[in-house]
Amino acid sequence: MYTGSHLKLILTILIVPAIFILLIATDAETRDFENELELTVEEISLESADYDLSIPEETKIIVKSGDTFYSTLINYGVSSVLINKMALDKRLREFIRFRVNDRIYIRVEGKQVEMRRFSNDDYFLDVLTIENDEYKFSRKRDDLEKVVQYREFIITDSLYASGKKSNVPDSVLGDLIYIFGWDIDYAYDIRNGDKVRILYEDIYSDSNGKLIATGDILAAEFINRGEKIAVIRFSQRGRKDYYTTDSTNVRKAFLRTPIEFARISSHYNPNRKHPILNTIRAHKGTDYAAKTGTEVVTTGDGIVKEAKFSRSYGNYIDIVHYNKYLTRYAHLKDFARGIKKGSKVIQGQTIGYVGSTGLATGPHLHYEFHINGKHTDPVKVEPPNAQSINAYNRKLFDMLVKERTEIIANITSI
Ligand SMILES: [Zn+2]
Repeated sequence: MYTGSHLKLILTILIVPAIFILLIATDAETRDFENELELTVEEISLESADYDLSIPEETKIIVKSGDTFYSTLINYGVSSVLINKMALDKRLREFIRFRVNDRIYIRVEGKQVEMRRFSNDDYFLDVLTIENDEYKFSRKRDDLEKVVQYREFIITDSLYASGKKSNVPDSVLGDLIYIFGWDIDYAYDIRNGDKVRILYEDIYSDSNGKLIATGDILAAEFINRGEKIAVIRFSQRGRKDYYTTDSTNVRKAFLRTPIEFARISSHYNPNRKHPILNTIRAHKGTDYAAKTGTEVVTTGDGIVKEAKFSRSYGNYIDIVHYNKYLTRYAHLKDFARGIKKGSKVIQGQTIGYVGSTGLATGPHLHYEFHINGKHTDPVKVEPPNAQSINAYNRKLFDMLVKERTEIIANITSI
């Protein structure tokens, strides 16, 4: 909770780093700081906790491969006729183009569905309002203001329920679960008494003071069984990621599995009898049983090295990652649109569909993981973390860590 003396303390502590950062910013004008400098003194919210009773129900959707404007709106009961009509509207041409990792905000009030998107710098807002089979579209410019909010809570039941009790918006809880999900297994690791502290931003309209959307988490601390994991948001090479305060990316360079919710039907085994050839032939990958047509995603960022047919692998894709790693996806029914030799792919992107082409007894995905040209058990490999903060960004990163850590330390009461 804020008090007057707290406020003075915070302002004193903040002013110094804020000035520092401004100096750096002017010193290196050519650098693209990508909004990481937004946390200045006057933007820290000093509102009381009952303030966020006004936060409307809003869903933040992070676009996954295969999500489209059409598939998203259909889920909200908008008619296909109207969606197709909007798709032909030239003003909406950019708005309806969904790319992986884009953020879409959806708000439903009665019969009205409102879809919002921000430009990359977060300062242009496009709003599409749909009601009674009609739609309105508007683009608002430079009348938005970001306000930093702080929440903290102690886990007493589930992470989600405890967060809700402390008025943490759903989309922020969703982000929190994503950020710490790489390191914490929520089913096994969470204990009563674990603590969470979050700095996030709300985006307000400057003209009418209304809350437009809840933005990203800027910094968060999770004290799990007495051990603190602290992260901050930082953009590097155009990609927003979360990094621990020692500059390690929390995201792993590889996902655990290339299919969501699939069962492993055959493990990596150097002495397996081949089910079709009936000879002892090493099984150099992991098989996932799944229905024909199930989406297969690339487990890491990379470049497609091969996307073709072979007698044994059927339709298969090889992807090279960071020169050192190669992943292989075999027996595919089909390749996803745009996947061919030389295509650039990003983690989680759909690259193909489960099938039984080549030497396969039934529909499944055969997945291989190679390190420096050697086969490795995909289940046992400990994936490296995605790229950490590079030397070029390190100074700015350390400043932001210091600034945000101090803000949390001064506000926290748990
Ligand atoms: Zn296999």
